[in-house]
Amino acid sequence: MSPDLPAGVERRDFDGRERLATRGETVYGEPRDDGGWRAWDAGRSKLGAMLELGMDTGLDGGEGVLYLGAAAGTTVSHVADFAGPTYAVEFAPRPARDLLDVAASRSNLFPLLKDARAPETYAHVVESGLDCLIQDVATRGQAAVALRNRRFLASDGRFLAAIKARSEDVLEAPDDVFDGVLEELREEYEILDTRRLDRFHDDHLAVVAEPLESSGDDAR
Ligand code: SAM
Repeated sequence: MSPDLPAGVERRDFDGRERLATRGETVYGEPRDDGGWRAWDAGRSKLGAMLELGMDTGLDGGEGVLYLGAAAGTTVSHVADFAGPTYAVEFAPRPARDLLDVAASRSNLFPLLKDARAPETYAHVVESGLDCLIQDVATRGQAAVALRNRRFLASDGRFLAAIKARSEDVLEAPDDVFDGVLEELREEYEILDTRRLDRFHDDHLAVVAEPLESSGDDAR
């Protein structure tokens, strides 16, 4: 049996098809019904794909979230619709401009034009002890980003990531790339579940993890 969806995420009917949806202002041209529910496109969102595939993300709704690699806000807008305070890190100025518009209608969404490899540059803004760290940076060194940002996560928090194989190495077999990334993640995280997202996103691995008890507020 699939785990429950977080409160604030529902399966609703759009043009005769049941789709994931959250309640909020539209962001990327997705359909919205009369009740204010907007479809969450799993083909454009790795977290959406994880929920669509029935992965147990541990999300209940209302969590404090740090989201790394927010881009123009497609996924983080849905997250902010059902979560609590949501910090969205993006280092490219152009998508970050669109992210500001997305945040304008969401008082719990805080965009940060920052480099996720340098968490010390936003540690004064982002609270620690967060319930969830979500990562979709699609850049080389994805495990290193996860290890550096672990400091913001509560000891019982969840780490949810989409690892893109081609961002690490375009020539290496994706499974080998994923093995290497998971090995690095195990320095500070216990891996709870992994799933290939190929039905929605080629050569991506979804990871659900929690911090190891001994890891945490170090000087990374
Ligand atoms: N998560 C987005 C969504 O679903 O709406 C899509 C993210 S896109 C695949 C990856 C994003 O990560 C890009 O916008 C890129 O600029 C950003 N990114 C890559 N490396 C980063 C870094 N070190 N710090 C902050 N953002 C980064």
